[in-house]
Amino acid sequence: MKAFYFIRQVLNDTISILYPSLCAACDELLLQGEDVICTSCMVNLPRTGFHAIAENPVAKQFWGKVQLEGATALFHFHKGEKVQTLMHRLKYNNRPEIGNKLGAVCAREIIKSNPYATVDFIIPIPLHKKKQKIRGYNQAYCFAKGMADIYGKVVLKDGLQRVKFTDTQTRKNRFDRHKNVKTVFRVSKPHLFIGKRVLIVDDVLTTGSTLASCIQLFNKIEGAKVMVAAIAYAE
Ligand SMILES: [Zn+2]
Repeated sequence: MKAFYFIRQVLNDTISILYPSLCAACDELLLQGEDVICTSCMVNLPRTGFHAIAENPVAKQFWGKVQLEGATALFHFHKGEKVQTLMHRLKYNNRPEIGNKLGAVCAREIIKSNPYATVDFIIPIPLHKKKQKIRGYNQAYCFAKGMADIYGKVVLKDGLQRVKFTDTQTRKNRFDRHKNVKTVFRVSKPHLFIGKRVLIVDDVLTTGSTLASCIQLFNKIEGAKVMVAAIAYAE
């Protein structure tokens, strides 16, 4: 077995010499033991700390609209900064591991504090089918997966589903028919969530309107408690 590990280490080292891994945020070489994001970026990326503040800007987005146990985002999102680079690569450069990594980072931070200490289900906001086909993955799922690994839970991939419907009431003529096709969400198995704690996750949170429409669905389920976590919050 020792020989096996030795050979594997040599192979790994050779691969990293031939194809050095770079930090997904700053493009510096990753050192041994660093994974996806370098230690310096990990320390300096703009964390919000919102999970420890009940009345934070993300939670306030939902006030008066839905019932929530708590809402948080791992980072602040500012244009031209490293979090934007990370989000761009996660979404457009086929880098799902960035989502996994940030999910794990986020979960390790929030799992220590209420209301995030106990979670029964982790559910990502589903992506448009067409977008998912092009991208090959849903970035919110990758984030959810990273969190789920820390929580020791599985991600309910299809807990929320997008459903298209055509609003026939407002259809005027065949030319603007496409404008009246709306996407709504539905909870696939509502009975699963009776009396459960559900963590809904998304990538970048701006107005929170998509999330709010999803949370409303869970608010209708008896005893279901909802929490929200996003990778980044864009003010
Ligand atoms: Zn870095």
